[in-house]
Amino acid sequence: MRLRGGKRRKADDRPEVPAGTPELAGTPGLAVELRGVRRQYGRGERAVHALAGIDLALPRSTFTAVMGPSGSGKSTFLQCAAGLDRPSAGSVRLGGTEITGMSENELTELRRSRLGFVFQAFNLLPSLTVEQNVQLPLRLAGHRPDRRRAAAVLAQVGLADKARRRPGELSGGQQQRVAVARALVTTPDVVFADEPTGALDTGTATEVLGLLRHAVDTLGATVLMVTHDPAAAAWADRVLFLADGVFAGSLERGSAERIAARMAALTARTDVMAGVAA
Ligand code: ADP
Ligand code: MG
Repeated sequence: MRLRGGKRRKADDRPEVPAGTPELAGTPGLAVELRGVRRQYGRGERAVHALAGIDLALPRSTFTAVMGPSGSGKSTFLQCAAGLDRPSAGSVRLGGTEITGMSENELTELRRSRLGFVFQAFNLLPSLTVEQNVQLPLRLAGHRPDRRRAAAVLAQVGLADKARRRPGELSGGQQQRVAVARALVTTPDVVFADEPTGALDTGTATEVLGLLRHAVDTLGATVLMVTHDPAAAAWADRVLFLADGVFAGSLERGSAERIAARMAALTARTDVMAGVAA
């Protein structure tokens, strides 16, 4: 199947697929599909190719980690995959929907209703209760507050008794569990997690990763997580390694030790290349 994203496009052009155009159906069962995704910053000789041709197909109900040296394109990748940034070329399909030609409003709507996000910094609203924070995606998506749904996801993350508290009254690990509940409340097609354990100690990090694992195994969630921590990545089904804006291999069910060894090799190689270029 040839996707229109494979065409060459001038840098920074708005992708030419108009919203609402009938599209070839995506591959069934895929939660995330990227084809030929490129993202370049700047033009000409100074252009930085943050993503230099990314192809990816993530089945539903899988947990994938993305690792790579600093500057390898992890953040740009996650932003493009989650509809927060527009690729310079290529196509992104989420839950079978082509998002490449969507307007900002359509993207916002899609993110609110069909994607979940967990960030390093929790990003809870301090003036709202835990329950209200969890309900927020439902409200933003135009639904009525659903206390039963909020209570159900809070129970799933082990915080049923904290519904009336405010985030500031909870530990960091508990706050991140609230963020996980908030990410799951809409039963999203994909949960995007950007260094979700970056601000947590090892014990609470393990709790949060266990929750993400549980969401995949028992709730059928799909999780795509960027991390620099091999121990966190070891919770994933598969680790994808990014180097210089392209995928440079993967590991299935790797231990933290094996993942760390691959990262060390990748970082050394990237440093050598940078040394040659300098
Ligand atoms: P990572 O998250 O792996 O550290 P990034 O995706 O943040 O990598 O960055 C990839 C490359 O793109 C780096 O070379 C970075 O300097 C560059 N880059 C990222 N954002 C911008 C931007 N807004 N403008 C210019 N260059 C950028
Ligand atoms: Mg980054």
